[in-house]
Amino acid sequence: MAQQSSATSNAPNLQKYLDLPQKGQIMAEYIWIDSDLAVRSKVRTLPYKEGGYAASELPQWNFDGSSTGQAPGENSDVYLRPVAVYPDPFMRGDNILVLTECWNPDGTPNKFNARYEAAKLMEAHADREPWFGLEQEYTLLDLNDRPYGWPVNGFPAPQGPYYCGVGAGKVVMRDIVLAHYKACLYAGINISGTNAEVMAAQWEYQVGPCKGIEQGDQLWLSRYLLARVAEEFGAKVSFDPKPIPGDWNGAGLHTNFSTKEMREEGGMKHIEDAIKKLESRHKEHIAVYGKGNELRLTGRHETGSIDVFSAGVANRGASIRIPREVAAKGYGYFEDRRPASNADPYLITGIMMETCFGAVDK
Ligand code: ADP
Ligand code: MN
Ligand code: MN
Ligand code: MN
Ligand code: MN
Repeated sequence: MAQQSSATSNAPNLQKYLDLPQKGQIMAEYIWIDSDLAVRSKVRTLPYKEGGYAASELPQWNFDGSSTGQAPGENSDVYLRPVAVYPDPFMRGDNILVLTECWNPDGTPNKFNARYEAAKLMEAHADREPWFGLEQEYTLLDLNDRPYGWPVNGFPAPQGPYYCGVGAGKVVMRDIVLAHYKACLYAGINISGTNAEVMAAQWEYQVGPCKGIEQGDQLWLSRYLLARVAEEFGAKVSFDPKPIPGDWNGAGLHTNFSTKEMREEGGMKHIEDAIKKLESRHKEHIAVYGKGNELRLTGRHETGSIDVFSAGVANRGASIRIPREVAAKGYGYFEDRRPASNADPYLITGIMMETCFGAVDK
């Protein structure tokens, strides 16, 4: 018998309400990042505006930071400042998703607002024209926190058939992957691809190339969309970098990076310069590349060791990989394979700029 779960939605019932007219009002879903790097959101009504709202035209809002680990109970208001607006693929029409930054009442950025520093770095080094492309890996879990489709007491067959797999027994929940892809396209997220991953129930999608701060914005919004889509299908999304110990691949957030100089003829010299700088700040990067990453960066399962920096052409066991095609052409981009799937893209892209091109005043 099919299990009825209160966690899933009833699409046919919902549809007749979604079709109701809104009488000159829109729904704006304000989204923020909490102290556990999970997304949170709440909705408010705004008057319909011809041509839509720019982020700067949207009102500031607030929430109870004591309920999200972002403020003390006696001074609990945290402000939400809109920074980017996207069409809402769930409510459609004129309704919008609003990505926000968290600010304290005293006018300082909230401790968990990593976007503020990253945006300053992007602005200071805008003449470099930085592009990023992030590969978001994740694992789908059932409501008992078991990877989706895995036997309750035991393990699926060893890794091998699952990567880019096609067919029952190799991949699960492709509906979620496809629905998320369409939701990203509708919202204007620069999703560039998707594939099933090496561990059963693990998937990847890529967002990019995006310029500067937009990479963090778009990746966070894509995470929000994924959580919403998976919620409807009754699945949990895990960004744990090593969801299953042992001979199972972990999950990363490979970060592809280039500047204008790297993308032009002779760019390899600039790629090599950047890699030298990255080597000198390995520890500082690892510190912001995600919690629990030491369980993933073991030197096995297509990773480099967490303690030793390394770089190589087409080497998936290195910290930094220069794609074969880039080495052959002599220009292009490189891939930092160290970031974990649960890392904050604002911290990754920010420290990349800081290490390669210098800090800005705090
Ligand atoms: P992999 O071979 O490591 O699995 P993917 O194809 O999954 O690589 O992801 C590569 C990512 O790199 C994509 O998001 C793509 O948009 C991005 N990318 C491509 N060219 C550049 C570039 N010049 N600068 C930054 N990112 C780039
Ligand atoms: Mn209330
Ligand atoms: Mn990839
Ligand atoms: Mn991958
Ligand atoms: Mn990769």
